[in-house]
Parts: sequence; C-alpha cells; structure tokens
Amino acid sequence: MKKFWRCKICGDLHWGVSFPSPCPTCGFKNSYYEVKKVRVWYLFFKITGKKFWRCFVCNDLHFGKHGPSLCPTCKHKEAYVEISEKEFKTILDL
Ligand SMILES: [Zn+2]
Ligand SMILES: [Zn+2]
Repeated sequence: MKKFWRCKICGDLHWGVSFPSPCPTCGFKNSYYEVKKVRVWYLFFKITGKKFWRCFVCNDLHFGKHGPSLCPTCKHKEAYVEISEKEFKTILDL
C-alpha cells in the first residue's frame, strides 16, 4: 500500500511504499514522515523550482528538485523520469 511521505527538512513529497533516504533534494537521511494530505504543501513548494518525477518501474511519484537515484519501493537505480504536473495530479487523483 503506497502512502504519502514528506521531507521535514526541504518539503519534498514522495508517494510510495517507503520513502527515499537520503532525500534526493536536501541529502538528509530518514527525514520523511507520513502525511495524509498533499494538496496545500505541494502548491506552496512549487515556487522553489521543484519538479514532478515518476519511477518507470513501479510508478512511485516524487516531487522535488531531483528524483531519487535509488527507488525506495522497487530498488531500481536511476529509474525516475520527469513528468508533467497534469500527469502527477492524474495519477494521484488530486
Ligand atoms: Zn529533503
Ligand atoms: Zn520504483
């Protein structure tokens, strides 16, 4: 079951079974906690130049300056591709 995770240091969002550690944007380890709602935070952090990423193996989603180099859910390396905000919203039903 995939959940939403948020980095308490830089505000990156991750949707997956687990969260990336270290965080691909700020580099901190174990900095994610589970959140129930994403809408407001992700709109706020969009002004910082963060982008939308999707793992092409397991469909995990990430919102940050970079996608995780190691996917926390499927463990594939360099599997994240940039996607549009529309695709991100569609997958998450936002
Ligand atoms: Zn972070
Ligand atoms: Zn993956």
